[in-house]
Order: sequence, then C-alpha cells, then structure tokens
Amino acid sequence: MMKKYLIGIDVGGTAIKIGQFDLAGVMINKWDLPTNKTDCGQHILPEISHFLNENINLEEVKGIGFGVPGPVTAGVIKNGVNLGWDTIDVVGEFSKLLTNKDIIVKVSNDANVAAAGETFCGAAQGYQNVCLFTIGTGVGGGIIIMGKLVDGHDGMGGEVGHMLVDQKRRFLCNCGKSGCLETVASATGIINLAKLYRIEDPTSKLNRYDRLSAKMVFDFAKKGDRIALRVVDEATNYLAYACSLVTLVVNPDIFVIGGGVSYAGQFLIDKIESQYYQYVTPFISHAKFALAQLGNEAGMYGAAYQVR
Ligand SMILES: [Zn+2]
Repeated sequence: MMKKYLIGIDVGGTAIKIGQFDLAGVMINKWDLPTNKTDCGQHILPEISHFLNENINLEEVKGIGFGVPGPVTAGVIKNGVNLGWDTIDVVGEFSKLLTNKDIIVKVSNDANVAAAGETFCGAAQGYQNVCLFTIGTGVGGGIIIMGKLVDGHDGMGGEVGHMLVDQKRRFLCNCGKSGCLETVASATGIINLAKLYRIEDPTSKLNRYDRLSAKMVFDFAKKGDRIALRVVDEATNYLAYACSLVTLVVNPDIFVIGGGVSYAGQFLIDKIESQYYQYVTPFISHAKFALAQLGNEAGMYGAAYQVR
C-alpha cells in the first residue's frame, strides 16, 4: 500500500504527544496520552502501539519517530528516569510490537528532536546548520549539521546546558557539577541570580515578592528595574558566550531560542545577539538569531523529521 504518513511521538514524563503528518511534514492530526510510568514504564511502548493500531492505518505509515527524555545512542536510551526507564532499546522493542515490518522506527533525545522540529517546520526552516537552545526549567539543546542531528557518542551531542560558563561556580546543577549554563541562564538560573543581587538594592521591585519567576525578572527589566536588568544582562551574557563557543565548533547558520523563557520575546533575542558579537571572532559572518515557533509541538515535528 502507498505510504502516506509519518508519525512523530514526543514521550514526556506526564504526557505522550502523538502527531500524524503527511510526507511533506504537514500535521494532519494530533493526540495526547497520559504517560503510564507504573512498573518501571514497561507499559509505555505497548500502549503507544495499541493506540496507533486503533487510530491509524499503519499500512500507510512510512515511519515512526520518537523523542525521549534521556541520552540516546543507536536506538537505545540510557537513564530514561522521567519515564521510569533504565536502559531500553526503544527501536528494537517497538519494532517487535509492530505487525507491519516495513515501517522505519527511529529514536532520539527530546531536545535534539525539538531542534529537528524547528528545522523541519519552524523558525529554522530552510537552514542546514542549526543550534537550538531550549530555555525552560533547565537549558536543553540540539544541533543539526548538514541537515542531520548530532547525537554524538553517548547521545550527549548538543547538551549546551551543561557548558561550564560561571567560572565562580556559585550554583549547583542537577547534573552534579556547578557553574553550568543551566545554573545561571535557565528560569531557575535567572531566579538564582535575582535572589543573589536583589539584596543590594532595597528599592528593586524584585524585593517585593517571596516567590520570583523568570517572567517577573524580564517584565521588571523591560520597565527599567536596575537589578532586574543586571540579572537579564548577566544571564543573556552567559547565553551569548555559549553561542560563541558553539559557533567556533560547528558554525551554525542560525541559533533558535525556545522554551518558556523565550516568551520574553525579541527583548531576549536582542540581548543575546548584541553580546554574542563581543565574544565571537570577527572572521565569522553574521549568524541569525530567532525565536522558536513551534512551542511544545516541536518534539512531534522533529520526531517525525527523523523518518521523513
Ligand atoms: Zn550541569
């Protein structure tokens, strides 16, 4: 039978997002399933397979791509702790569940597939060399070179959030180190800096709140609050520095900035871009900076992109 569709599946800790696409990458349908993490997550893949069988004619499916939270190499995820998984051969296990043996199955890290999604159908459409920074609770990343995802030896390719940028190593990271980009530039990192600096100026509006958010810091910075501006300048300075390092390694055409913090908009992009040019070598031509466009659907688009 004619192959007409691609399936992109973003397996998250609370929800599984399933997207059905045509071969050109246009989304036709999408569904959300709750993630069943009981029994060490062993029901997740069978439940996905069951759902697909019920809702899609798999004979018309060319490929099924997955994005999963954890490092992936050769179809195998290691330490998928958010799913209750230890080491799982996603491609092998899922292929066994399929009765149609001609369907391509691929899997990659969720941040990497988000980068692929933005390249396939979002902010970086038409570019071959792309670096995505996803700035949310943490800082994730993904790198595409010559149109291909860079997963790397341990599936840690593009893990820009753990670049050591704060040489003073003031804040501890989830990875066990301190000084990572994530500790000073994620939503959590921005709050770290705000708490550190607000005591220096009792008139800063940041002192009016017990519970700070990155959005508050950006909103006050846009209104000219001196401490909030200092925090934004410092956080974006670290991001700019990280972008300059990425540039010297893989020289991307475009940097895409996504995740919850990116709702700060063009203000955030302008801050990163202006500081980037203080770091990067003058021999490198103008890199583009853009806001991500697909929001939390990027993973589905990118998961499908793997099997296009
Ligand atoms: Zn780290």
